[in-house]
Amino acid sequence: MSKTVIPLRELRGSLRIPAANTAQAAGPLADTRARALHDLRISVTDRCNFRCTYCMPRDVFDADYEFLPHAEILTFEEIVRMARIFHGHGTRKIRLTGGEPLLRRNIDRLVAMLREALPGVDLTLTTNGSALKAQAKALRAAGLDRITVSLDSLDETTFRAMNDADFPVARVLEGIDAAADAGLAPIKVNMVVKRGVNDHQVVDMARHFRGSGHIVRYIEFMDVGSTNGWRMDDVIPSAEIVRRIAAQFPLVPADANYPGEVAGRWRYVDGGGEIGVISSVTEAFCSTCTRARLSTDGHLYTCLFAQRGYDLKTMLRSGAGDAAISEAVAGIWQGRGDRYSEIRTAETARSRKVEMSFIGG
Ligand code: SF4
Repeated sequence: MSKTVIPLRELRGSLRIPAANTAQAAGPLADTRARALHDLRISVTDRCNFRCTYCMPRDVFDADYEFLPHAEILTFEEIVRMARIFHGHGTRKIRLTGGEPLLRRNIDRLVAMLREALPGVDLTLTTNGSALKAQAKALRAAGLDRITVSLDSLDETTFRAMNDADFPVARVLEGIDAAADAGLAPIKVNMVVKRGVNDHQVVDMARHFRGSGHIVRYIEFMDVGSTNGWRMDDVIPSAEIVRRIAAQFPLVPADANYPGEVAGRWRYVDGGGEIGVISSVTEAFCSTCTRARLSTDGHLYTCLFAQRGYDLKTMLRSGAGDAAISEAVAGIWQGRGDRYSEIRTAETARSRKVEMSFIGG
């Protein structure tokens, strides 16, 4: 089925930056639903070597697709400056994403720069694992704390079909091993579950990673972006995932590690470790969502399902001082009321949203 190609410039429009309620150059923030600004996800590239059907379908992200020109992409220095400003507003966790972040040249240098600037921050990265074997050691040495690897299937045919780049499972597994050897633990393995595509792999994934110390996290298939053709029928509810796994390997619920943790935790009764379920569709967690997203070209998005972002790059590059940018961030966050997953319908699922590869998942 061919998909509608939405001109990129339409999805890259900018919202007007609101003024802060009170002049607030630093300090913790709360949005209109009393949510803090705790996490920042930074997309370091809009490119990826995979064409996962739910994220960057090949019929949209083809040879004619207009990726960002180099000059539009935030430099490492600009990223670190933004990270410091967010830290001043209470951000304590930073995740590097993409696209595929390990495709960004010298990404370990960015990790080292962030680590030096913000020694206490929880610094993580989400990758498709394709280049992890080669880079795991350098990332750890640069100061990365942990890593999340996306892996939708252990079945070769299913995985190659889902990544649509003919990429083999074994190379991702080697990357996971290399990350574990480097000390990037605990490793989270994210599996997006789509009915009829890879749901037959739910129990196999649990079986494979039980006892390894790695945590498989099952994610309900979501209507991210405007190109993935989402339907509610494609979603396997987390409750069903837990039932299927527990039928083979008994599970008990575990407490959240911290308030607002996205994944629901379940422990194997026999001590084989734990799994997580991310019920983004069937049990929306917007009320505790403390995540902001900085796109590859320096726009701030306050929801994964946003249609527009706020252009901070223009401020960065037009001589604005940190205090002014910090105030701009405060105004945006204080005005935030996002709760897309609480109000999702078949209608909203068809609406135009920014592509996940542009703002990170
Ligand atoms: S839908 Fe938006 S507000 Fe709700 S949890 Fe997801 S990113 Fe947060």
